[in-house]
Amino acid sequence: MKVCTKCKKSLHLDCFYYHKQSKDGRKSWCKKCCKDDTAKWRIQNRDRHIEYQRLYYMSHTIEYSVWHKNYRIANLNRLQESARQRYRNNPIPYKIRSAQRRGREIGSISKVEWEAILSLYEYKCAYCNSNDGVLEMEHIIPVSLGGRTEINNMVPSCRSCNRKKGGKHPICISWAWKAVWGKLYGGMRYL
Ligand SMILES: [Zn+2]
Ligand SMILES: [Zn+2]
Repeated sequence: MKVCTKCKKSLHLDCFYYHKQSKDGRKSWCKKCCKDDTAKWRIQNRDRHIEYQRLYYMSHTIEYSVWHKNYRIANLNRLQESARQRYRNNPIPYKIRSAQRRGREIGSISKVEWEAILSLYEYKCAYCNSNDGVLEMEHIIPVSLGGRTEINNMVPSCRSCNRKKGGKHPICISWAWKAVWGKLYGGMRYL
């Protein structure tokens, strides 16, 4: 028998992991305490990792969009003229693309697909986990920012979270980013 220095329980030696460096060849914490500690560490680090990534993406997104905006302002006439020129030379692809865009905005998610998303989120709000009240279809990246109505961009959301998030990019809101991080960037593979 050996006493775990963490939970102070007296347990059979089998309840302790092997550890070469220690005198009795076992860890001083029992297996359960070790597991709990690892789980805790993972959650803490996951949170830290997600937040770090959010700030990194955000600073770079803003940098880029500022640069892009300034570039457009400085070169407005030239850019407009070359766009007009391209359109005059061959308008068909532009017409197709704009028709597609209009089609997309209406939404292209079927009832079955929405049902699948709902069951994936266990019929709870993706942000606050509440399951009372109506779950609305939420665009992770808002349509106004180029988000599409497709499976990868849709989550169930309670009315209150949907209102709070509004038309903002999830990267600008810590709690929203944390909730959809895995879905957007495949972040779960870090766990
Ligand atoms: Zn223990
Ligand atoms: Zn909610």
